[in-house]
Amino acid sequence: MTKITVVGSLSMDLVVSASKRPLAGETVIGTNLSLFPGGKGANQAVAAARLGADVTMVGCVGDDAYGEMIVANLASQQVDTSLVKRFTNQTSGTAHITVAEGDNSIIVIKGANDCVSASLIEEARATIAASDIVLTQYEIPLPMIAYLADVCESEGTPLLVNPAPAATVAPETLAKFSYLTPNESEAALIFGQQSRADSFGAFPGELLITLGADGVCFKETTVPAFKVAVTDTTGAGDTFNGAFAVGLAEGQSLAEAVRFGNAAAALSVQKLGAQSGMPTRAAVEELLA
Ligand code: ATP
Repeated sequence: MTKITVVGSLSMDLVVSASKRPLAGETVIGTNLSLFPGGKGANQAVAAARLGADVTMVGCVGDDAYGEMIVANLASQQVDTSLVKRFTNQTSGTAHITVAEGDNSIIVIKGANDCVSASLIEEARATIAASDIVLTQYEIPLPMIAYLADVCESEGTPLLVNPAPAATVAPETLAKFSYLTPNESEAALIFGQQSRADSFGAFPGELLITLGADGVCFKETTVPAFKVAVTDTTGAGDTFNGAFAVGLAEGQSLAEAVRFGNAAAALSVQKLGAQSGMPTRAAVEELLA
């Protein structure tokens, strides 16, 4: 079984629907409240675990009820949570989403995700060393991305970085990433407004730019997305990254792993929700057959 370690965020998404958005100082009676476990780290861990990888999550939650629910959810998906730390006097990461008048407004509280530290990454060092690949995103403190890149480099474990939400890191840190998977707007922020060819030249590892319904481009190749009827694209990027990591960890070629990721993401956009839409191995293999 391939081993993947995800160092990243965990959160609870609290989705409220109402017929109208409250103005400043106003109270509105809503129609529904739904809770969804999320966070890019946890989502990508679940995507990889559903596809059969042995996944360990490294991250932090608070000592609140959401933290318990987040950890229980990951464990129910066969993700190893022994390196998920619970911090006292800290809230778990949450996203507060209001759906009203046909649009979303979102407030994100990073909470315990800001507690990911060098000592936690050191605690995970042996697990990282024993992994086929490490996966991370930018929802934990950026200095910890740099620290993680050093640990992966010294342990000889490839590091796949999904640079979301968009941010820039020092060039010497970027140079340590084995794989980088921005979407188009993240790529524009990281590499400036240069042409795609220049962006590929500016990154020493493997750069893969995800293009939504147009697939993924890397080097001179574009691997098209699977054509499907879309229900909800939430979590498409997370599903792609989790699945792409599984493909790489299994020793697939870059093009094969991208196709594997595209297939998983295409299945996820046909269902509502991020984690709830993530496919099983059997479903991905059926689409690839
Ligand atoms: P999100 O933030 O919505 O999760 P993202 O912006 O990180 O996604 P995208 O480039 O939009 O990433 O999508 C990631 C991958 O998901 C694409 O490369 C593609 O494989 C798949 N995908 C996204 N949208 C579609 C679609 N409409 N049809 C088929 N596949 C899709």
